Amino acid sequence: MQENDNLPENDHRIIGQKLDLFSVNESTGAGLPLFHPNGAMLFRLIEQYITDKLLKSGYHLAKTPHIYKAGVWKKSGHEAKFKENMFYTESEGQKFAIKPMNCPGHIYIYKHKSHSYRDLPIRLAEFGTVYRNELSGNLTGLTRVRTITQDDAHIFCTESQIESEVINMINFFIETYNEFGLSIDTIELSTMPKKHIGDIESWNKAEELLEKALKKNKTTYKVNPGDGAFYGPKIDFHVKDVLGRSWQLGTIQVDFNLPERFKLFYIDEKNEKKQVTMLHRAMLGAVERFMAILIENCNGAFPLWLAPVQVRIINMNDTLIEYSEGIEKKFRDAGFRVDSDYRLESVGKKVREASLMKIPYVIVIGDKEKDAGTLAVRSRGDKPKFGVKFDNLIKDMKKEVESKK
Ligand SMILES: [Zn+2]
Repeated sequence: MQENDNLPENDHRIIGQKLDLFSVNESTGAGLPLFHPNGAMLFRLIEQYITDKLLKSGYHLAKTPHIYKAGVWKKSGHEAKFKENMFYTESEGQKFAIKPMNCPGHIYIYKHKSHSYRDLPIRLAEFGTVYRNELSGNLTGLTRVRTITQDDAHIFCTESQIESEVINMINFFIETYNEFGLSIDTIELSTMPKKHIGDIESWNKAEELLEKALKKNKTTYKVNPGDGAFYGPKIDFHVKDVLGRSWQLGTIQVDFNLPERFKLFYIDEKNEKKQVTMLHRAMLGAVERFMAILIENCNGAFPLWLAPVQVRIINMNDTLIEYSEGIEKKFRDAGFRVDSDYRLESVGKKVREASLMKIPYVIVIGDKEKDAGTLAVRSRGDKPKFGVKFDNLIKDMKKEVESKK
């Protein structure tokens, strides 16, 4: 049986197939989705948007490899707590692990030079792809995968900076979810789990600091005992989609343990060495899973700013191809993602196919439009409009992109 048999129409796997976003191939492996041009574009749009927002908020970029030497994972404690979910490989008698998390790479970037209290906080962000060995029977579409791209970031700061950093993150997360058409369902403070590293005092301190930030920000939350990460407590964000379903997405974690294990310091005002604090945070969680939620949330009809193809140009007959290509170029030059359908098919069929692909704007070029220098425009859910001036349409479309509606 194919994975997509018997699925409801609004499942992201069905929509993903119809819109040609991604596929999972038995030859390359279950849980390892292949993103097609439309899906890869959607992925890039999300990444670019979040990255631009992070850069405006004082983050810096990091980029780290997919594998690290196995010893690093022993030192970080991942191997002890996480081994059954890790993939390993070997070269020249040296054992490597494919990274299940990005933290150690960012730790060694911080450690590469010494830091003064004046440098802090240092915020390192990376869309880091990690790999986790889930049982093949549990793998589905984009929601349960073995390759996970996290919108990951680590903040290295002093203890007194934790509160303002956490408050900034909470508000940043809520604002971004709203921009993607999602709203907060619940926010949870998850405390020390059974499998953990570090002493009770540092756990208590970290939990207190997170709680203080939540209270100061007047954020409504509940406590979720025993659900923290193995190295520290966390704030978890559950969001609601338009169908009323709740999804756990973002997480903010305070960590005193990895800075101790990796000896991460800064020089304080008195010229003394002090241990730095580390905050781990991911807002979308796994981008793959976030895409599945987005796809189902809008039933494949992405808002204009996120549509992989925003405009399709359709010609009425072959003599209009050259003119249509000129129109296509004008949209591209105006900054829009545009494609075309110049096949020898009926206009009706080509318009129908574009509407099945849920392309926001379909422009039909006939002799009339060419002679008048205007456009016939079909936008999703609207009646066709004739005699539209190019400049007016571009102005309206730019407003629509801006509004994120
Ligand atoms: Zn981390």
